[in-house]
Amino acid sequence: MSTKSVDVLLIGGGVMSATLGVFLKQLDPSMSILMVEKNQKVALESSDGWNNAGTGHAAYCELNYTPEQPDGSIEISKAIAINTAFELSLQFWSYLVSHNYLPEPNNFINRTPHQSFVWGEKNVDFLRKRFEKLTQHPLFSAMEYTEDPDVIAQWMPLVMEGRDRNEKIAATRVKHGSDVDYGSVTRNLVANLEQSSGFELLLNHEVRRFRKRGDKSWSIQMRDRTQNESVSVKANFVFIGGGGASLSILQSSGVEEGLGYGGFPVSGQWLVCKKPEIVEKHHAKVYGKAPIGAPPMSVPHLDTRVIDGKPALLFGPFAGFTTKFLKQGSVFDLIESVRPNNLLPMMRVGLRHTDLTRYLISEVMQSHEQRVDSLRTFFPDAQTKDWDISIAGQRVQIIKKDEKLGGKLEFGTEVIITEDKSLAALLGASPGASTAVEAMIGILEACFADNLETPEWQAKMKEIIPSYGGSLEHDTELLSQVRSYTLRTLQLES
Ligand SMILES: Cc1cc2nc3c(=O)[nH]c(=O)nc-3n(C[C@H](O)[C@H](O)[C@H](O)COP(=O)(O)OP(=O)(O)OC[C@H]3O[C@@H](n4cnc5c(N)ncnc54)[C@H](O)[C@@H]3O)c2cc1C
Repeated sequence: MSTKSVDVLLIGGGVMSATLGVFLKQLDPSMSILMVEKNQKVALESSDGWNNAGTGHAAYCELNYTPEQPDGSIEISKAIAINTAFELSLQFWSYLVSHNYLPEPNNFINRTPHQSFVWGEKNVDFLRKRFEKLTQHPLFSAMEYTEDPDVIAQWMPLVMEGRDRNEKIAATRVKHGSDVDYGSVTRNLVANLEQSSGFELLLNHEVRRFRKRGDKSWSIQMRDRTQNESVSVKANFVFIGGGGASLSILQSSGVEEGLGYGGFPVSGQWLVCKKPEIVEKHHAKVYGKAPIGAPPMSVPHLDTRVIDGKPALLFGPFAGFTTKFLKQGSVFDLIESVRPNNLLPMMRVGLRHTDLTRYLISEVMQSHEQRVDSLRTFFPDAQTKDWDISIAGQRVQIIKKDEKLGGKLEFGTEVIITEDKSLAALLGASPGASTAVEAMIGILEACFADNLETPEWQAKMKEIIPSYGGSLEHDTELLSQVRSYTLRTLQLES
């Protein structure tokens, strides 16, 4: 059995590990980093372009980030948090593009207006109030609103073709929204890492077991799936970026901080259209309202996508029930993740969310024609023959202990960090890849705090993320400088 020794072990070749790896190599080029991926290539799971919606989540069009309160007011704190988090990703990518560490922006990000579209009196009232509240904040000042069918027909022609002109409708638009091919981002980040000395990528290697050593470092056993051999790694710091499998990997590390966590996997499907004459008539991400009873991640949207440089339209996602934690996972993943320490929270969530399970099963049972019927609420003239089904990635929602409820289901992302800061794991999948940079900065601040205090790391952080240490939410001048820099560098300007 061969043994390696590294400063940092990144488990998983998705956008999260790749982002952390690039940050660390930029901050300290002498650091030795090993990335381990169980598949034959990186970015084949959730980060692959076809496995996620590619939305650069900025809360411009996603209506679930601005819930209406019982008194009728609109809560925008989550929208502000998501928008400022995405601004960090834009700065990170801008830095990498300017230094030729990432290719031309259109290889991974494309300007795609973010639009919301609603119908019915109540929803129109909601959208108008949302627009009025959001545009008071400089982060959202570029948002436009209309109830005029002719304007909406210019913004989203397919949505208006064949629609009853007397229907009460409204839309908002932010022109500088983006479609991101996170698969391309990941592959390019890893390609950049592979050019640096002290970085190694092991494909077809699956992490299996952990052992804590006396000196706070970790001894990790993995399986070389090609040679069918064991490989051992000693690492001072471990990041678990296993996507849906992060929970299982965290459990095998045995750390106390992971106790009580469970996972609720949700699968997804898209309707895809690649016909050029249809694709070229839509250039936007158009988000609607989630059907009543649907979980937040199944808000329907009709999106322009550019994946591997090729344009397509996607509609969905249609959620589904699954027991796998990864697309290429095992049907036993869910059952194998049940432990005495998470049994109660998982049972409580299972009993309380029977409506969600029923909803997911009903989604799975839908025929192709029923799915195209849902699409027709957005694109009335859609023809069944023009749309194919495509399988999306898996999302494993977090189940955690809750004093009052026994267990609760969360739809966000959570970073778990051990008390001695030698291990961090990312659980959950939403808002996901858009907030990879913010999540990884959080890990740097928690686990590399001493290094980050040095003038060298501080200066480099400010170079990579010009707003670092400032507030994009409160400092309008800083926001305006940073936004014009990122929109220009990433070619997202109108
Ligand atoms: C349907 C859907 C729609 C989404 N839409 C969006 C969106 O519009 N915008 C957005 O920002 N985000 C979106 N997301 C979320 C986003 O895709 C994820 O948050 C992000 O890709 C997660 O990246 P990751 O690196 O954590 O995981 P992944 O990309 O899944 O990578 C994890 C890697 O770890 C590897 N691995 C697992 N176990 C092991 C092991 N034991 N040993 C070695 N390797 C291992 C896996 O093979 C995989 O390659 C969506 C997700 C889904 C499923």
